[in-house]
Amino acid sequence: MSIQITTHNDVMHHTARRVAVASGLSIVLTLAVTLINLGTNPAALVPVGQVIMMSMLAAISISAVLSGVLSYRSARLMQQLTLMRSELSRISQTDQLTGLLNRRGFDEAALPALGSAHHASLPAVVFMCDIDHFKSINDRFGHEFGDKALIEIAGVLRHFSHAHGALVARHGGEEFSVLMMGISHEQAELYAEEIRKTCAAREICSGDIRERLTISIGFTVARGETDLARIMRIADQALYTAKRQGRDRVVRADEMSLAAA
Ligand code: GH3
Ligand code: MG
Ligand code: MG
Repeated sequence: MSIQITTHNDVMHHTARRVAVASGLSIVLTLAVTLINLGTNPAALVPVGQVIMMSMLAAISISAVLSGVLSYRSARLMQQLTLMRSELSRISQTDQLTGLLNRRGFDEAALPALGSAHHASLPAVVFMCDIDHFKSINDRFGHEFGDKALIEIAGVLRHFSHAHGALVARHGGEEFSVLMMGISHEQAELYAEEIRKTCAAREICSGDIRERLTISIGFTVARGETDLARIMRIADQALYTAKRQGRDRVVRADEMSLAAA
C-alpha cells in the first residue's frame, strides 16, 4: 500500500496513527504477557523479581519488534527515495525525444572529463553539429517528420559514441554536441567527416516520404583548457562559419580564435 504524504497535516496524521498503533500494541502485549505469567487474580502474591522479569521481557520483546518493523519501513522508504532521486536526476539529464543526454547532462558529464583530460595533458575536442535547413524540413514534411529526423541523427551520434567512446548530447533544438579526449586535429577532422557523411547518407523514411538531410559541424581542439563554455563557444563559431560557407561541411576553429574567445 503506497502512503501519500504531501502536507504537514498528513505528516502529523501519519505520525499520530503510528504512535496510537504502537501504544495499543504495547498495552495489549504487556497485558497478555502479564496475565499469562502472573494469572488473573489481582490479590495473588507474586515475587517482585518475577514481576520485574516479566515486565522487562514484555518491554524488550515489544520494543525489539516495533523498532525492527519501523527500521525496516524507514530503510525501504530511504531506498525508494534514493531510487526516485536517481531516476529524477536521469530524467533531468536526458532528452525525451532522442534519449541522448540533454545540455544539462552533457555539461555535468563533460566537466569531470575535461578536468581529467587536463590532468593527463590530453587535448579535448568539441564538435557542434547542426542540421541544415531544418526549419524547411519541418515546413515541408511536418513536425512529426522533423522529430523522426532528429531521432535518426541522434541514432548516428549514439552509434558514433559507442564506437569511439565520445560523449554526445542533444544540445538543443536541432543541435548536437560531441566531446572527445586525447585525439589530434587530424583525427578529429576525420571523425567529424565520418559523422557528417553518415548523416548525409542516411535516408529518413516516414510513410511515403523519403528524404536525406545534411549537417554542418564546427569543431575545436583545446589544449590545457577546462572552461567548457568557452570551448563550446569556439566550436559554435566554427559551426557558424560552416553555415556561412554553404553548409554540409566541417570547419575547424584554429588556435587564434581560441585565444581571442
Ligand atoms: P540552418 O541551416 O541555418 O541551421 O537553418 P535551420 O532551419 O536548421 O535553423 P533554424 O534555427 O532557422 O531552425 C531550427 C528549427 O528547428 C526551428 C524549430 O522549429 C526546429 N526545431 C527545434 N526543436 C525541434 C523539435 O524538437 N522537433 C522538430 N520537429 N523541430 C524542432
Ligand atoms: Mg539548423
Ligand atoms: Mg540551430
